Amino acid sequence: MKIEILGTRGEIPASAPRYRNHSGVLVDGKILFDLGEAKFLRRKSKNIFITHLHPDHAVFVRNPMALSDVHVYAPEQSRSPFITIAKPVTIGACRVRPIPTHHSSKVKSCAYLIESGQKRVLYTGDIVWMDKKYRSRLGRLDCVVTEASYVREGGLVRRDKTGRLYGHAGIPNIIRMFESHTNKFILTHFGSWFFKDVKGSHKRIAALGEKYGVKLIVAHDGMTFTM
Ligand SMILES: [Zn+2]
Ligand SMILES: [Zn+2]
Repeated sequence: MKIEILGTRGEIPASAPRYRNHSGVLVDGKILFDLGEAKFLRRKSKNIFITHLHPDHAVFVRNPMALSDVHVYAPEQSRSPFITIAKPVTIGACRVRPIPTHHSSKVKSCAYLIESGQKRVLYTGDIVWMDKKYRSRLGRLDCVVTEASYVREGGLVRRDKTGRLYGHAGIPNIIRMFESHTNKFILTHFGSWFFKDVKGSHKRIAALGEKYGVKLIVAHDGMTFTM
């Protein structure tokens, strides 16, 4: 499985050259996860899986655009005719399974489990929590591609009127959420903390990896991995 991280910037102003694009992950050169930038459409993906309808993951929320000739899957409907994804979808040798997550009080969100051959990768999008009943079925993962909006313990977590959590988990929380499934995390969707001192942030992430005994990879726009 080939993974190309197209964009690594969270919903903040651009400040560093290698982290300019909003979210996008291209798998095997043809399946796109999140459309944070309209230019990602140039990659000619026929199938786009959106984790949630925030503009840094679904640019058409901010700038409506024609998405003809493309299957767009999302956890809920928007103005454009999307396919509401609830069941796994098979594209060639790849199977894509949506897994509900908690992130926003206003939009639905999901992670995607991507399986191809023996390889299994989870892309979380933005996440504050994934219910245990879903995590218990994840099995062994080759890696988790996840967000790095907050490095601090606890991230930014709030509760709505009904007591449901929303916001972003911190990197330590995400590690603990998935460490029984993998020891490899590819970090993307960096928040403002990262850009205050990019070199220092790399060191901070390396120290966290050592603390938890996991491999934390700091992605940048255009970084590729072969699993
Ligand atoms: Zn985001
Ligand atoms: Zn979001």
